[in-house]
Amino acid sequence: MSKKYVYMFKEGNGKMRELLGGKGANLAEMTNLGLPVPQGFTISTEACTQYYEDGKQINKDIQAEIMENIDKLEKLVGKKFGDKQNPLLVSVRSGARASMPGMMDTILNLGLNEEVVEVIAAKSGNPRWAWDCYRRFIQMYSDVVMEVGKKYFEQLIDKMKEKKKVTQDVELTADDLKELASQFKAEYKAKIGKDFPTDPKEQLFGAIKAVFRSWDNPRANIYRMDHDIPYSWGTAVNVQMMAFGNMGNDSGTGVAFTRNPATGEKGLMGEFLVNAQGEDVVAGVRTPMPIAQMKEVFPEAFAQFENVCKTLENHYRDMQDMEFTIENKKLYMLQTRNGKRTAAAAIKIACDLIDEKMISEQEALMQIDAKSLDMLLHPTFDTKALKDADKNNVVGKGIAASPGAATGTIVFTAEDAVEEGKKGKKVILVRLETSPEDIEGMKYAQGILTVRGGQTSHAAVVARGMGTCCVSGCGDIKMHEEEKYFELAGKTFREGDALSLDGSTGNIYDCAIKTVPADPNSGYFGRIMSLADKYKALGVRTNADTPSDAKQAAAFGAQGIGLCRTEHMFFDADRIGAFREMICSDTVEEREAALAKIEPMQQADFEGLFEALGGYPVTIRFLDPPLHEFVPTEEADIKALAKAQNKSVKRIHEIIDSLHEFNPMMGHRGCRLTVTYPEIAVMQTKAIIKAAINVKKKHSAWNIVPEIMIPLTGEVKEMKFVKDIVVKTADAEIKAAGVKLKYEVGTMIEIPRAAITADEIATEAEFFCFGTNDLTQMTFGFSRDDAGKFLGAYYGAKIYESDPFARLDQKGVGSLMKTAVELGRKTRPNMHCGICGEHGGDPSSVEFCHNIGLSYVSCSPYRVPIARLAAAQANIKNPRK
Ligand code: ADP
Ligand code: MG
Ligand code: MG
Repeated sequence: MSKKYVYMFKEGNGKMRELLGGKGANLAEMTNLGLPVPQGFTISTEACTQYYEDGKQINKDIQAEIMENIDKLEKLVGKKFGDKQNPLLVSVRSGARASMPGMMDTILNLGLNEEVVEVIAAKSGNPRWAWDCYRRFIQMYSDVVMEVGKKYFEQLIDKMKEKKKVTQDVELTADDLKELASQFKAEYKAKIGKDFPTDPKEQLFGAIKAVFRSWDNPRANIYRMDHDIPYSWGTAVNVQMMAFGNMGNDSGTGVAFTRNPATGEKGLMGEFLVNAQGEDVVAGVRTPMPIAQMKEVFPEAFAQFENVCKTLENHYRDMQDMEFTIENKKLYMLQTRNGKRTAAAAIKIACDLIDEKMISEQEALMQIDAKSLDMLLHPTFDTKALKDADKNNVVGKGIAASPGAATGTIVFTAEDAVEEGKKGKKVILVRLETSPEDIEGMKYAQGILTVRGGQTSHAAVVARGMGTCCVSGCGDIKMHEEEKYFELAGKTFREGDALSLDGSTGNIYDCAIKTVPADPNSGYFGRIMSLADKYKALGVRTNADTPSDAKQAAAFGAQGIGLCRTEHMFFDADRIGAFREMICSDTVEEREAALAKIEPMQQADFEGLFEALGGYPVTIRFLDPPLHEFVPTEEADIKALAKAQNKSVKRIHEIIDSLHEFNPMMGHRGCRLTVTYPEIAVMQTKAIIKAAINVKKKHSAWNIVPEIMIPLTGEVKEMKFVKDIVVKTADAEIKAAGVKLKYEVGTMIEIPRAAITADEIATEAEFFCFGTNDLTQMTFGFSRDDAGKFLGAYYGAKIYESDPFARLDQKGVGSLMKTAVELGRKTRPNMHCGICGEHGGDPSSVEFCHNIGLSYVSCSPYRVPIARLAAAQANIKNPRK
């Protein structure tokens, strides 16, 4: 039997996401729950893949299968495509496995032509509705299928409204809409050179292909990269009988959440429009009414809807995001999904659902997107600064669409937001309303302010997804987008002016307001974090170079330092001098003299680190970078250095020149520095051991075991050479102090050779830590600093789907890690292995690290909470014995 590509809603269920996409699977599930869903069928994601394999064609077999299901649908609902008595009209809707709201295309009212529109006008006695459907269909079909720009059609509508002296679409009459439909068709013909298709089957296949094609459109591609959705998944297509919300004042359409997606508060939240269709609510065509008001307009349908909400929430055991339509007072459900939410809402909902006994603790943890916790770590307004601003600087209020605090300067276009954002400027993007073309700019903005649109507008939904503060629908703003200024509260705001937004209250301020960091240890956040610790097996450490970073990370729940980069301790103006003297020494004596100046500074820093971590392990890595990064470039600095060292300026220049390398990333760095200058390792060992002894004296209860980490090892003899120096120095130091102190000497694994010979390396190294930045660089053979220039082209050509420096390449780099862990533990069964590259804070990489048996991940302080949750999720999915 050949493969099945098309499923009637009755044939599917909620578990078939991979095949039917999220929308299709949930439409099937709702159908089986007995909810009022307009019937239809789903063309599977495999058909999409096949479409691309067949060179962007729908092959004969799949075409035939689609037609069979059209037949079935026609019989089921008693209507027929193109019929003169009872014509069938459908929507053709995209729907991938993961929801990608608004990223791909949907077409409504398909099946209409000049004849059919007259039939439905006459039969319904409602010509206004009939022509409204037709003009909408031509508009959507042209835009989506033929890529004729939306704006031409919108201009025609605006002209018509002007001519008729009305402001809203609903005020246009049947004749106006009929006139518009013919203008639209003329526009289509002018742009395409062909008549608008009249055959419903031709329209149907045109629309299905358009949905398949939209899987590859630029906004879908950007969204996928941002959300780690693989290109290979494809999208399904749903063909569904229409329910009409635009039939008059007994009809309408709406969207609603079972809980507030911004705050998590329990209770229906949503918006509703009378006499409207499809995207009208979210597109901000008219300002919708709050869902509660629907109770007054449609009491019966509202009561039924409330029941449906309960049924769905209990069934999915999660907050639902639903779309529905009322046709002549009758309710139809068009979509449900687990609602997207802010991180603040996610943690509240998870805790509430546990308390309501709807889900277990583990399920609650699995429900939260670990990456999104980042939002909770963003600063909030300083309470006092905000109070002052509340008195003096509120210039307006919009809808609190996405929480957070944003302070920055005004820009009016997405392009400007990108440009300024790339320069590191903090900007607030102010728009009439946003559209998918603005997404790139929204990413760079601190906050988004729109004149139109509500809680469910594009700006609101996307901003919440990104964790960016958004205030939407501030209708008081008089916007002059083209001229780049707006007026509000009698003031004029131009590009570059300061503005602050409070995404939790909707307040808009005409000034900058001070912000403060967040607190992850109390409230819902604290509860979720302690649950994460309860269920995780991996340790979570932090990468910290200074005592203040270390303190921050400890507050975020770090259980140690996985990487301290000692070279970062020398960038300070008052230290770099001594460091330069060390580099530009001509003799061992000179170098040792310089090192003697540095040693106490290092020791003090290390003491600070041990103190900050209160007895948790601290890994300190020896000096790693190419030396020439530290030499002076300014003539004045060079002169000062010459004077300090009693050398000629010429001699300093010679030394600097001699340090030049052709390929510093693969040059004289890491443990190679110790092989050439063992005295550096001696100094660093002394500083570490003395610091540990001092802190241990102060805190006798703490178990202080310094971990000394050798960077860039590639060969066991090299490791032994360095380790011997460390052990000799450390033991002498400990003996001289007359104390007992354990310490470990291990290595970074960041050179492929080290991974492959890890069994040998482990005869010397007492622990491993994967430096996946270098390991990725060395494995791919391109450098982190240069890859930006060409990786864009690689994404474009779909050679790579994500940045291997941000998301671990599990296949290549990951398999080296797996090999190294296995080989290392063959030699030294209980050795601890960690990761300290950027990947340590990326949830999918954390899961991988859990699965290959690492002992801990180490990441930057602000990603510690993310890693804790990701580690718990990994262990819930795949429990460690
Ligand atoms: P998206 O994934 O962007 O939300 P949808 O496929 O859900 O796109 O459709 C866009 C809009 O059209 C939504 O408001 C939806 O409720 C509406 N819609 C889709 N199919 C139908 C239908 N059969 N009857 C009435 N409205 C529909
Ligand atoms: Mg939808
Ligand atoms: Mg490295």
